[in-house]
Amino acid sequence: EKAPGIDVDNNIIEEVEKEVNAWAAIQQQELDRFRAWADYRRKFVGDISHELKTPIFTIQGYLHTLLDGGLYDDKVNMTFLKKAAKNVDRLYTIVEDLSAIARLEAGNLVLEMQAFDIKELTEEIFEDLEIKAREKEIILEFKDGASQNYKVLADREYIRQVLTNLIHNSIKYGNSGGKTKVGFYDMDKNMLIEVADNGIGIPKNHLLHVFDRFYRVDKSRSRAQGGSGLGLSIVKHIIEAHKQTINVRSTPGVGSTFGFTLEKA
Ligand code: ADP
Repeated sequence: EKAPGIDVDNNIIEEVEKEVNAWAAIQQQELDRFRAWADYRRKFVGDISHELKTPIFTIQGYLHTLLDGGLYDDKVNMTFLKKAAKNVDRLYTIVEDLSAIARLEAGNLVLEMQAFDIKELTEEIFEDLEIKAREKEIILEFKDGASQNYKVLADREYIRQVLTNLIHNSIKYGNSGGKTKVGFYDMDKNMLIEVADNGIGIPKNHLLHVFDRFYRVDKSRSRAQGGSGLGLSIVKHIIEAHKQTINVRSTPGVGSTFGFTLEKA
């Protein structure tokens, strides 16, 4: 019913109501997005300080013991210094990986796409990691017969990082005397690249999470290997920036296979 003396068009009121509701819904969405972002930042900062504290406390402990006069045993003192140095290396790795993650998550990654031979790149990485592999008596080799053409279109330096992380992991979590095999498989438009080891494997309930930042199946094993827990998360970001996919299959005690795709050149 109309108010006396005022001629109001009900259609206009409905229109205005709709506008106001739509606007309120958008505000709510913005607010939700902001809250999710704030939660994410808070957790990220918490994770980072936790990760940095562990090596810092360790270094602090060793250095203070030495400054307080050491343990009157040069051999033990030397061991302490070496352990402190190892933890400085770990800190460095964490900080390096964090800045890589920050760059990747900013989402403005500029890929320098070029055609290159992925097998040649893998050979270079085999050479870089040879000493680490030999220390654990792990053999790095190609799985043969899978593909004849190894030309892909991607950012060579970023893919170097991907393959380095995956192959390094296969050594870190491989069994001594084992093997890492890298295979290349022709698909329709893409090439599938697989890094397979016969190491400790990953239990099923962890499999979905290994690409999350700071996620580790076995914290002490990862730390003992100098890992930051960020390697696979960096790998996933890089592959996604290429609009490609990565996956993993694994059987505990048998081994793991990480596979990712790249566009064929
Ligand atoms: P980290 O620095 O701990 O190696 P990553 O992000 O590279 O971090 O890997 C996350 C976790 O996934 C590791 O801590 C390890 O538990 C597991 N993982 C990764 N690669 C392998 C592998 N080849 N075999 C078994 N476990 C693996």
